[in-house]
Amino acid sequence: MTHGDDRPGVIPADVAAFRAAYRAAHVGPRYRGWRHLATTTVGALAAIVVAAVMVDAPTWRELLTIPAAFLVANLGEYAGHRGPMHHRRKGLGILHERHTRQHHRFYTDAAMAAESHRDFHMVLFPPAMLVFFLGALATPIGLALGALLAPNVGWLFAATAMAYFLTYEWLHFAYHLPADGWLGRRAVVRVLRRHHTAHHDPRRMQRTNFNITFPIADWVFGTLDR
Ligand SMILES: [Zn+2]
Ligand SMILES: [Zn+2]
Repeated sequence: MTHGDDRPGVIPADVAAFRAAYRAAHVGPRYRGWRHLATTTVGALAAIVVAAVMVDAPTWRELLTIPAAFLVANLGEYAGHRGPMHHRRKGLGILHERHTRQHHRFYTDAAMAAESHRDFHMVLFPPAMLVFFLGALATPIGLALGALLAPNVGWLFAATAMAYFLTYEWLHFAYHLPADGWLGRRAVVRVLRRHHTAHHDPRRMQRTNFNITFPIADWVFGTLDR
């Protein structure tokens, strides 16, 4: 079966209509997609650098925080996406609205690519989410680990968590660029985009391919669409 990224330029009428309505309702005249990407990138990189320079002569055991935090983040990505992003949960309805009701209608397996930088609005997290990831996840968990285990563990956790967040943003962004562009043609982007494109098929989005970055948890939980 072929997916939309094999035939760029053909946007189904229902997707085109949803995009036009979304842009009119949500994307203001001053919105700049490249500025949005730069804000996310600079904000996350700043947090990573601050956390990384605080790490002081880590032991090998402390450095194991990096793969452990990576796996926890991969599981968190999977659980958040399979859970509240695809199933309306009390208090988290905004995640379902933005993801299932908006992102999945703006981009389908038949129309994966943004048409201009203004369509990045429906790919990247709003900048407030960067503050949430940093303030409500990376910092408190990092502080707790720092207090319970060792300061290096806390800083390494925070740095890895924010690096994972930025990897998620960059990869997901790359999948929704034109497949024939420079970034779209990179081997790693091609392979991972195929995984995410299958998830954008409305018939499969509730069942398979919930990892956005690397399909580790999809493999563990048997939701990998081959
Ligand atoms: Zn997507
Ligand atoms: Zn989804």
